[in-house]
Amino acid sequence: MKGLDELIFDNRFACLGDVFSTHVLPEPIDNPRLVVASDAAMSLLDLDPACAQTPLFAELFSGHKLWSDTEPRAMIYSGHQFGGYTPQLGDGRGVLLGEVYNDVGEHWDLHLKGAGPTPYSRSGDGRAVLRSSIREFLASEALHALGIPSSRALCVIASDTPVWREKQERAAMLLRLAPSHVRFGHFEYFYYTRQPELQKQLVDHVLAAHFPGCATQPEPYLDMFREIVERNAELIAQWQAYGFCHGVMNTDNMSILGITFDFGPFAFLDDFDANFICNHSDHEGRYSFSNQVPVAHWNLSALAQSLTPLIEVPALQEALGLFLPLYEAAYLDIMRRRLGFTLAEEGDKVLLERLLGLMQNSGVDYNLFFRRLGEAGSLAVLRDDFVDMQGFDAWAADYQARMDRDVVDGRTERMNQVNPLYILRNYLAQKAIDAAEDGDYSEVRRLHQVLSNPFEAQPGMEGYAERPPEWGKHLEISCSS
Ligand code: AMP
Ligand code: MG
Repeated sequence: MKGLDELIFDNRFACLGDVFSTHVLPEPIDNPRLVVASDAAMSLLDLDPACAQTPLFAELFSGHKLWSDTEPRAMIYSGHQFGGYTPQLGDGRGVLLGEVYNDVGEHWDLHLKGAGPTPYSRSGDGRAVLRSSIREFLASEALHALGIPSSRALCVIASDTPVWREKQERAAMLLRLAPSHVRFGHFEYFYYTRQPELQKQLVDHVLAAHFPGCATQPEPYLDMFREIVERNAELIAQWQAYGFCHGVMNTDNMSILGITFDFGPFAFLDDFDANFICNHSDHEGRYSFSNQVPVAHWNLSALAQSLTPLIEVPALQEALGLFLPLYEAAYLDIMRRRLGFTLAEEGDKVLLERLLGLMQNSGVDYNLFFRRLGEAGSLAVLRDDFVDMQGFDAWAADYQARMDRDVVDGRTERMNQVNPLYILRNYLAQKAIDAAEDGDYSEVRRLHQVLSNPFEAQPGMEGYAERPPEWGKHLEISCSS
C-alpha cells in the first residue's frame, strides 16, 4: 500500500494539449475537514486507508495542496441538455487533477468537483454544496456495491466557504474517480464546431486508452461505438432492474465508458412507479424512470451523429439497432434472477410485466418486495401491500407454479445475492445530510458503511432496511447543487 506522496501520475488526457482542456488551478475552500472517505475507492489507488486521517489528505482534496506531477485541467465539451443542443459546456466547477497509474496497471482519473471557477463556469461560481457532494459520494459507492458500473468517490471535504443557492450553504469538494471523464458531449463538441481532425485525435486517444480490444479490429471506430451501445444497454438494464433514476440524462452526463456518471437529483424508487420523476426541475418528465430506456437510445443516436465523420451512417444505424434487444435481454436476465428463476421460460416477460402492473400505484416498496419475495415462507404475506389483492393472488399462483418448474434448492440465498436489503433512499441520505450540515458526519459514514454491503443483513442496522416513512417518500430534490 502507498502513502499519498507515492502516487504515480501519468496524465494522458492533459498531454493531448490545450485544444481539449485548459490548465486551471483549484481554488481552495476554507477550513477543510474530512466528511467521509471510501476505503474501497482508496484501494483503487493502492492508498493506505489510514492516509484519510492525515491533514495532508484534506489539504490535497480541498485545493490547498497539489502533487508536483499533477496537471490540473478543465475539460472542454458540449452536449444536448433536455433535448436541446448547448454548444459550449465544459468543466465549470470540476478539475481533472491528473491520472493515477496503479499497481495493477489501471489508470484512474482524479477529478475534484467543486474546485472553483474555470473558463467554462459561465455564470456559475464553480462550487458544489455539501449536500450534493454527499449525495454523489453515497450514490457512487452504493451503486458500485450493488454491482452497477459507476464513477467512484474517494472522499468529501467540507468547508466554511459560503455559497449561495436557494439559500446560503457551504462549499464542499468531492474527489471523483473514473477510468475516464470523457463524455458523449466531448465528441459532440468537435463535431458541431467542425473540427474533424481534432475529433479523430480524441477518438484515437479513447480507443487506445479505453477500448484496446476494439483498436485491433478491422473497423476500430465502429467496433468501439458498438461496444459503447452494448455497455449502455447493460447499464440501463441495471438501472431499471434496481429502480435507479439518474435524473439528468443529458449527453454531457453520459460517460463514454457506459458507467453511471454525473448524477445530481438521482433517486432509487421507494414505491414502484414507472412514471416517477426524481428531478424537481424536469417538468415534462423527459428523464422519468421509464423514459430512461428511450432516452439512453436517443443519447446514443446523438453520439452516433457526432461520429458520422468517422463511421458510415448505415453501420452506425445497425449498431444503434442493437440497443433495444440487448437492453431487453439484459433486463429480463436480471429480473429473472431477482424473481428467483435460474432457467429462462417464454412466459417470464409477461409474468414480470403483470407484477409491475400490479405494483404500479399500489404503494409497494419496489426493492423490499423482491427481498421479501425471496424470504417469505408464504406468498400470502405479501398480498396486503397490493391494492388489487385478488390480482396479486392470481399472479402469486402463476409465480408459484413457475417456481415449481425451476430449481428450488438454495433459492432464498440465491435471491438474497441479487435482492438488496439496503438501498440509498432519499430520506436516508437526507437525514445524513441534515446531521452533516450541523457538523456531525457520523451518519454519513454509517450510511456509507451499510450501503457498502447491501445484500447482507447487518446486525443493529435493521432500521436502514425498513420502508421509508410517508414524509420520506415525497422529498423534492432540487436540481441546484
Ligand atoms: P451538471 O448539471 O452538474 O451536469 O452541470 C452542467 C454544466 O454546468 C457543466 O458544464 C457544469 O460544469 C456546469 N456547472 C454546474 N454547476 C456549476 C457551478 N456552480 N459553477 C460553474 N459551473 C457549473
Ligand atoms: Mg454534468
